[in-house]
Amino acid sequence: MNKKTIKDVDVKGKKCLVRVDLNVPMKNGVITDENRINGALPTIKYLMEHGAKVILCSHLGRPYNIFNDTIKKIKPEDESKSREELVAMTLKKCSLRPVAARLNELLGGKVTFAADVIGPEAQKAVANMKDGDVVLLENLRFHSEETKNDEGFCRALAKFCDIYVNDAFGTAHRAHASTAGIAQYGLCEAAVAGFLIEKELEVMGGALEHPVRPFVAILGGAKVSDKIGVINNLLDKVDTLIIGGAMAYTFFKAKGYGVGTSLCEIDKVELAAELIEKAADKKVEMLLPVDTVVAKAFPDPIDSAIEVESVPSDSIPDDMMGLDIGEKTREIYAKAVKDAKTVIWNGPMGVFENPVLAKGTMAVAEALANTDATTIIGGGDSAAAVKQLGYADKMTHISTGGGASLEFLEGLELPGVACLDNK
Ligand code: AMP
Repeated sequence: MNKKTIKDVDVKGKKCLVRVDLNVPMKNGVITDENRINGALPTIKYLMEHGAKVILCSHLGRPYNIFNDTIKKIKPEDESKSREELVAMTLKKCSLRPVAARLNELLGGKVTFAADVIGPEAQKAVANMKDGDVVLLENLRFHSEETKNDEGFCRALAKFCDIYVNDAFGTAHRAHASTAGIAQYGLCEAAVAGFLIEKELEVMGGALEHPVRPFVAILGGAKVSDKIGVINNLLDKVDTLIIGGAMAYTFFKAKGYGVGTSLCEIDKVELAAELIEKAADKKVEMLLPVDTVVAKAFPDPIDSAIEVESVPSDSIPDDMMGLDIGEKTREIYAKAVKDAKTVIWNGPMGVFENPVLAKGTMAVAEALANTDATTIIGGGDSAAAVKQLGYADKMTHISTGGGASLEFLEGLELPGVACLDNK
């Protein structure tokens, strides 16, 4: 990796402002999944052990901007509430206080929580720090300036910052104050990556730049339009591109198949045809489903019982909707994975939220779990599916960022990485 990491700088006695991803799921103030906290620990512990003053910042959820004078974008159901009620509700749902309590348990009682971000509490907590101490600031997004990448907010945050450390891969594709802006104004001595970002870039970057071949990418999910950039970039790199999910029907249409009532982006059919052509030009094998699981309608609720049948992909009845890849396709895709040496997967093969329609996604997850190839799961739904099926340990790498990993696979430079010092 060409970016500096925390190992490239002397952190002893330095205030290190670390952007971490502590956006954990919570229910009634209780953390329901600690993965992100655990993911942040190696960087935090390294900095503590090396005598840094560790100031952590993160967002949590999609809160109202309660630290501004005017609260913006109030949802219709909350319009009748007073400011006090909105503040109380937001703090209950999105305060990082419970995360600080858990971190404090995990880090030997060294963690102090500041109930504001740049205000007097934070300033006092930071002023009182000794080397090896940790302060967690309150939710960055309680300030609207965070996502607006406001210069004044960057400057205020930078007061806590001799060295800026970005370790939040999940938000590295955003140019927010804490993810990129802060490093823009020459206010910090250094801007470096933490271990989590380093690993993401090394594993995914390594696969894209020097893959052990055959290199197979599997793309699924709802829309071609979301993944055009990724498909385009991967067509320059992979040996085989496998398509599943609702995305496949836009490609079917491009091939002249009827798609019934399946999700299909009519305005992207031409583009799908161009991508098929590009694959042929580049001698990339593009695999589309040969058979499709169809039903009369989309399941509602999504996990309700559903009657399905399997049809060849070029024979989807006019009144039926494709909702998963069929059995023959599952076998073909599993075989392609088995023959591969590097596999990248992003996006489910069908409506995996429904057990009847999860078989395609499960088959792909299982194929990845049973290969010795390097296997990389680009966050989001595929990561959730792999974890849910108990295959997490069998993968080489599960990305911690859905949107960020997609942009990375697209070949884009992430603002949260671009802002870091080069080696
Ligand atoms: P994405 O966010 O683009 O990765 O898409 C994930 C969503 O695509 C999931 O919620 C799936 O239920 C949905 N999806 C996958 N296959 C289909 C399909 N054949 N028809 C409708 N939705 C689908």
